[in-house]
Formats: sequence, C-alpha cells, structure tokens
Amino acid sequence: MSSPPPSPVYLIGAGPGDPGLLTLRGRDLLARADVVLYDYLANPRLLEHARADAELTCLGRHGQGRLLGQDEVNAAMIAAARSGRTVARLKGGDCTIFGRLAEEVAALEAAGIPYEVVPGVTAAAAASAYAGVPLTHRDAASCVAFVTGQQSDAKTGAPLDLAALARFPGTLVFYMGVTGAPRWAPELITHGKSAATPAAIVRHASLPQQWIKQTTLGELANELAPGKVRPPAIIVVGDAVAASGASRWFARRPLLGQTVLVTRPAHQAAGMVAQLEELGARALVQPAIEIGPPADPAPLHAAIERLGDFHWVVFSSANGVAYFLDALQASGRDLRALGGVKLAAIGPATVAALAQRGLAADVQPDEYRAEQLATALEPAAAAGEHFLLVRASRGRETLHDDLTAAGGSVTQAVAYESRDVTAAEPTIAEQLAAGEIDWVTATSSAIARSLVALFGDSLHRTKLAAISPLTAGVLTDAGLDVAAVAEQYTSDGLIEALAASAAAE
Ligand code: SAH
Repeated sequence: MSSPPPSPVYLIGAGPGDPGLLTLRGRDLLARADVVLYDYLANPRLLEHARADAELTCLGRHGQGRLLGQDEVNAAMIAAARSGRTVARLKGGDCTIFGRLAEEVAALEAAGIPYEVVPGVTAAAAASAYAGVPLTHRDAASCVAFVTGQQSDAKTGAPLDLAALARFPGTLVFYMGVTGAPRWAPELITHGKSAATPAAIVRHASLPQQWIKQTTLGELANELAPGKVRPPAIIVVGDAVAASGASRWFARRPLLGQTVLVTRPAHQAAGMVAQLEELGARALVQPAIEIGPPADPAPLHAAIERLGDFHWVVFSSANGVAYFLDALQASGRDLRALGGVKLAAIGPATVAALAQRGLAADVQPDEYRAEQLATALEPAAAAGEHFLLVRASRGRETLHDDLTAAGGSVTQAVAYESRDVTAAEPTIAEQLAAGEIDWVTATSSAIARSLVALFGDSLHRTKLAAISPLTAGVLTDAGLDVAAVAEQYTSDGLIEALAASAAAE
C-alpha cells in the first residue's frame, strides 16, 4: 500500500509578543493544525487559536528545559507531516528574520513536504511602533539595517563587518545583541562611529512588561554589562532614535507594567482580561470559584413547570440567567414560557445576559445590590405578588427576607452551584508570594472568601480591588487592606477604581 501524501507545514511568524499582532492568515492556518511546534518567543496565548485537540509542543527555552536542536526541529516537522498531520510551526517575530527559516525550508524541500510561509511583525517594527523608537526618519535616517549581535556562532555564521556597519548611513538594529554589546559597541566606535550616537534598548517590545532605555552608543557597553539586561531585547543605534515625534501611546497606558489577577470563573474571565490588557496590564487568571449545574436540579425544574404561577422572575447574576434559560430550553420550552411574567435583574451584567437571550428587564435598581432590588420590588411584594428568585447555591438571603417581609410570596430556585477552588496554579501562588502580582481582583463576596482561603497571607503582598463595599468587607474582616473599591458595583466599575488608584500612586 502506498503511504498517504504528506500534510503541509505552515511556518508562521508569531509576532513580537502582543497576541493581537498575529496575521489573519497565521491565525487561520494555526486553527487548521494537528500539531503546533512553537518557539519560546511565540506568546503561548496564541495557542488559543489552535484546535482544542491539537498537539502542542514548546521547543524549549534557554535555561528552562531542553532546547531542541535545529535537526530535531526539522525531524519533528517532517515526521508529523509524513504521518498525515498538518503542522503549524510558530516562530517569534517574523520567521524570515534571524529565524533560521532557510534551514527549515531546505529540509522540507528535500523531504518533499508542501509548506507555506506566513510573515509576522518583527521585533524591530514592534519596538518602533510600541516604544516610539523610529527606524527611519525623513531627516535622520533614510535606511535601516537588521544586524545579528551574536558572533559566537562564528564557525558557521558570517562574521560581522563592524567597520562597514560603522559607516552605514542609517539606523542599526541589533537582534540577539545583549551579550555581545560590550564587544560590538566599542568596536563600532573604534571604527569611527560617534560615541554620542543615540541608542535605545527595548526589552519585551509590545508586551505589558515592555521596558525601554534611551542611551548612547558610548554607554551601551556599560548599560549592557553582563547580567544587567536579560533577553529578549533589541538595541537600536542611530540618529533616528533621538528624532522628535517619537510615539508614546503605549507607555501612556494607565496600567502598563502592572500585573493583575482575575479571579472569576474561567468562562467569565475573558472580558475582564481583554479590558485590563487594553489598559496596558498583564492579566493573569486564577478562578477562585467554579460554577456548575445544581447538585439537585429538581426544585429548578419544578419551578419551571409552574412558571405561570409567578408574577416575577428575579435574577441576581448573569450566571443565573444563563443556567435558568438553559434549563428552560432543556425542558422543551422556549422564551414564550416567560410571556406572562415580569423580569427583574440586579445590575447591568445581568441585564446584558438577558438581552443576549432576547429578553428585557422590567426592573433594574439604580444601585446594584440586593437591598436596592428588594426596594424596587417592594410595591409588587406589598400587593402580594409571587416571586421566583433564581439564585446560586450560596448567596445572601436578603432578597428572600425583604420581599417576604413586604408581603410577597417568594420561591427560591438554585440555578447553579458555586464551589470554591481549593488549589491555585503553583505558578500563580508563587508569583503572588513573591510579590510579583500588583493587584488581585475580587468580583464577588464568594470569590473574596475563597481568595482568603486559597492564598492566605500572600494577599498581604499585593493590592486588593473589590467590586463593592460588601465584598471589600469580606477582605477587611480577614485583616486585609483593600486599595480600591468600585463605585459602580460592576466589573467595569472595579477596573475603573483599580486604574484610578494605580494612577494616583
Ligand atoms: N524572528 C524574530 C527574531 C528572532 S532572534 C523577529 O523577527 O523578531 C531573537 C531576538 O529577537 C532576540 O534576541 C531579541 O533581540 C529579538 N526579539 C524578539 N522579540 C522581541 C521583543 N518582543 N522585544 C525585543 N526584542 C525581541
């Protein structure tokens, strides 16, 4: 039997770090892959575009685990392609710039494997855009050279002609130049380049931890003395570096350099992560609680059976809306079953969850807490109306008690179970204990309680941001300081308070 034709290998430039800088073509091909081989410089966040069942292999990182040799990488690509599996080879930045692309392509050509190359945003372009270090400039630089600063590979690589580079009439961008700088920088000066030539070191370009140092060619050897700056960094040398009009938009992001921990259930974290990143923060996720269907669904089903008996269905969370409507649909009904009842929602996120399913809330309080919702519903309760409270397995009894006291007839149905997460990701716990997480967010009282149990004293090593005074109270009762409390009791309000507090520092 003849073997099947080999599958293609896609060599994809992953961009410099910001996961938003992958090309559309790169994303589409990544989504097709059975096997993803990625460089340590490729942001692991990009793997979200891969299929859930794709085999993901990191090709190692200096100092952390084994670094695969080029031959081994080639062999892995070829073996996977020959077995009929589509390969995405994700390479940092642009795969054609200092990416050993020629060797990989030659191996694929020799093996008769079809392939495609997708360009990416190279580190120099990212530094130019995100750190405001221009590569070309109308008055200061009409050409640019990408240079490898790594000469240790002299046996195979062509040695750098520093005399020629010293005469180059434009911007020099050194990749992999950190360790070699104490050698190449003085040599450029020896060959006649002015020690006063402006220079910039840009580390982690386009990432929240981006760091930039403006200096001169003469100072570079000193700035990059062994151990002072760790890769990845590029070094830009030339008059354009000092040119006016450098863009500072990225540096102006209010949360740049801040690491923020998002602690809501995984399925709800994405929105907050995106918002925080938009403000420049590095967002990490460690859910403090998990959400699932109720252990005993019978009361919810029973309530749905007799929906017609209620005047009101009251939702206290977006999760409640989702689980309740899923259960309604699973029972064979649809939204028409809610035709005769009025709907109340505690706050904007709950209203949005209803809107997403085509429903409008009849009542929403001005302040997003149970007491206010009870007040808004009091006239109906006083008239003896019937309420179905859709709720979590744990939560406050405020609504039930207040509406009952006001004369309402109240039935509660647990639509979802919320459980504490009892073990945190070790890397998150370590970063928190080491004081490397600037902020921990608490978007509900249940989350706050779970956080205290999860992290204990480590919470003294970070700043805490709470969604409401009630949630803040849970933390202060545990002996913790709360640095930011939302004025609007929503996740937007929490992020606003956090950003305001960070700006005030
Ligand atoms: N193909 C890559 C370069 C690979 S060589 C590209 O096009 O960007 C690795 C070097 O790239 C690093 O030593 C560093 O000099 C540079 N580099 C990669 N990502 C970087 C980043 N986000 N910020 C600064 N330098 C980066």
